[in-house]
Amino acid sequence: MPIRLPVLLLGGELAPEYRWRLVHSLFAQRRSLLEGSLAFAAVLAVCLARTHWLGFATLLVATLLVLGLRIALERTFTRAMREPAGRLRHSADAWARRFSVGAMATAALWGITELCVFMRFNDPLMQMFVTMVQAAWLSAATVRNAAAPSTMAAQCILTLLPTVVGALLTHPGFVQIVAPLSLVQLSAAAATVRYTGKQITRLMLSEQRLETANARLTELSATDGLTGIGNRRAFDTVLQTEWARATRNATDLSLLVIDVDHFKSFNDRYGHPAGDECLRLIADVTQRPLRRPPDFAARFGGEEFVALLPGTSEAAARDVADRVRQAVVAAFVPHETNPMGCVTISIGVASMAPHPGDMAQTLIGLADQALYRAKQRGRNQVRTAGDDLAMRAWLAVRAGAIRPEG
Ligand code: GH3
Ligand code: MG
Ligand code: MG
Repeated sequence: MPIRLPVLLLGGELAPEYRWRLVHSLFAQRRSLLEGSLAFAAVLAVCLARTHWLGFATLLVATLLVLGLRIALERTFTRAMREPAGRLRHSADAWARRFSVGAMATAALWGITELCVFMRFNDPLMQMFVTMVQAAWLSAATVRNAAAPSTMAAQCILTLLPTVVGALLTHPGFVQIVAPLSLVQLSAAAATVRYTGKQITRLMLSEQRLETANARLTELSATDGLTGIGNRRAFDTVLQTEWARATRNATDLSLLVIDVDHFKSFNDRYGHPAGDECLRLIADVTQRPLRRPPDFAARFGGEEFVALLPGTSEAAARDVADRVRQAVVAAFVPHETNPMGCVTISIGVASMAPHPGDMAQTLIGLADQALYRAKQRGRNQVRTAGDDLAMRAWLAVRAGAIRPEG
């Protein structure tokens, strides 16, 4: 049966994304690793280089190996995160366990060095020096690795235990200083990890709440409160994006402007709540035939709706518009003052393959004029801008696309 190490990462209550951020923070230690290794090599040089060169060389090689292991782990992690399915292959906890292996190797190196210094030197000053450097290293690691509390506990034991054992074997008297010092360090490390861990979790939780609230706010600011579809602001944004795309790709962009017929009298006859319900139904019906992902419907304002159909010709957009119109008639919402006896809509359709310098307002203007003609011709119908070439030319002149003659 495979041995499973305990979960090493704090923040069990955090969403997966935030636990991944904790793992990222654990692995992002290249600079402190290099600095730590340099400091460690300096300590070795001071203590061992002249008198115990073989021990010095061995520990130096071990330092390079541990450093190499940790940098290799960090690089594997970074590479895995860049892959699209990188997070699926191993969990955040599995990566925290790998980090733990590297961190424990560093701690064991410090512990072994401490033991060597104690066994090889009979100089309490030198031993005290190494013990204090080790204490400084442990305090830094305590804060840096607080997101992995059990790893930190193992690091403390791996470095402090050899110190106490070394003192016990060489200077039993020295243990009276080293043992309490190690205990103080251990309890200080525990307190730091507890406090820092709590702060990290609290910070992450509030970041998580803030991001959720922000996402919700962004969604709300783009949604129409009555119908739940996109609002005017969202439409303006999508129109700009799709206009730019259509200009770049020289493709058609079609727009439907939909207006409810005799809606004022509907409100007067049935009341505003019924009017609101009717607008919800029309929003729903408008959205239904929009099957392609870039198609987008929004409430333009009042009882007017728009539908943007990228990559769609005027003829195809007219078909979609007619399906929407027929669906509203089929819903048969009673409307006494409408000659049809039910709620109907009129739709203006316009389509353009914009050239650089064209304005998106031209498309809205064309669709709006087509809608006006649909109203004039009796309502409950679809008119396209192409139905009236004179109007198209007039709008093109207004937009500055064509110079008027004479
Ligand atoms: P037409 O066929 O020419 O479009 O006639 P109409 O009565 O629909 O046109 P008009 O623009 O005069 O009336 C629009 C009405 O839409 C006025 C207003 O009472 C109603 N309206 C606008 N926004 C809302 C809304 O949010 N809820 C409800 N219930 N009615 C709204
Ligand atoms: Mg209107
Ligand atoms: Mg109307």
